Amino acid sequence: MADTSSFQTRLIHAGALRPRAYGAVVTPIFQSSTFEYAGSGYHDFGYIRLSNTPNHRVLADRLAALEGTEAAVCTGSGMAAIAATFVSLLDAGDHVLIQDCVYGGTTGLLAKELARFGIAVSSIDPQDPGGWARDLTPRTRLVYLESLSNPLMQVADLEALAAFARTNRLVSVIDNTFASPINLCPAHLGYDLVIESATKYLGGHDDLAAGCVAGSAETVRQIRRTLDHLGAALDPHACFLLERGLKTLAVRVAHQNESARRIAAFLARHPRVGRVHHPALPDHPQHERASRLFRGFGGVLSFEVAGTADDADRLLGRLRIAAVAASLGGVEALAMRPAAVSHAGLTPEQRARIGITDTLIRYSVGLEAPEDLIGDLEQALAWCV
Ligand SMILES: *Cc1c(COP(=O)(O)O)cnc(C)c1O
Repeated sequence: MADTSSFQTRLIHAGALRPRAYGAVVTPIFQSSTFEYAGSGYHDFGYIRLSNTPNHRVLADRLAALEGTEAAVCTGSGMAAIAATFVSLLDAGDHVLIQDCVYGGTTGLLAKELARFGIAVSSIDPQDPGGWARDLTPRTRLVYLESLSNPLMQVADLEALAAFARTNRLVSVIDNTFASPINLCPAHLGYDLVIESATKYLGGHDDLAAGCVAGSAETVRQIRRTLDHLGAALDPHACFLLERGLKTLAVRVAHQNESARRIAAFLARHPRVGRVHHPALPDHPQHERASRLFRGFGGVLSFEVAGTADDADRLLGRLRIAAVAASLGGVEALAMRPAAVSHAGLTPEQRARIGITDTLIRYSVGLEAPEDLIGDLEQALAWCV
């Protein structure tokens, strides 16, 4: 039956155990690797690695309600979700169309692991629908993209790409990590599979690694079987942490959206800052598209510091509130320089082509008061150059 309750209510209640286990209001941690197979009134629970403990079931049902799909599966990390999806859906000799700059782990998985099994990849410009058909081959099976690109927060032509996939009978897969299901529901735009690194917004507290794949019951069943074989299930304790994190997702993301908008506006006016990338800014290249498709513009932004890479590193060193670290989406503000961290694997020419300069800083807004984060950036910039 379709869940017609509002999003915030689903975050708290969808999929919860009924009847409650011993009356517990919160799903307890079932830290048991195996279950008697006729021993439960709820479901047939079985074995941790097969993701069929009560903690896994509650989480999977809640994630499906969140993504607006028939089914979902939680995984041991975002990369486990991505790996299980590719391994499940692709055969040797198949071909994938992929957005030109995606998460480094995804690129590495395809280039270093799956290429050895004969899976070919072509990169496509997500802003150029006219060019996509050029790269189709008889073996093209899947098109893969991210809902907000890292770190420039660009928005692909999401509607055109979903339509292109349908026309050409390709499975459309979208990594929705940067937007989170609060800001974008890709299933409603026609995407077959939605992947999240729950390590980021869904967990939201920088204290766990987890992932999720959501889609039709049939495809999710197939991906779950692959996950069982890869041995990349989520641990029940991490299920518990993720379930707890999800309950505050809507309020956290709403706060982060608004803080990021204010911080981006502050930076855009600052004389020591060059370009600022955030879809809430009217001069962002896809501001109009993001306004139409997204419920919020996201809590990550990036900006160029005037000067050299050393100046940008000095600015990072002077931040007192934001930690200088990779990752995003948690309650703590995090900042880092993509050319030195997330995109260090690319050549300077490759980085230049996609618009990542040496002085670009990526900033993930936390739950701190936005005026404090602005003050922190202001004092760090005052010392710059
Ligand atoms: C972090 C991240 C991943 C990988 O997730 P892990 O939980 O670290 O395995 C995948 N995609 C995007 C966009 C990410 O930011």
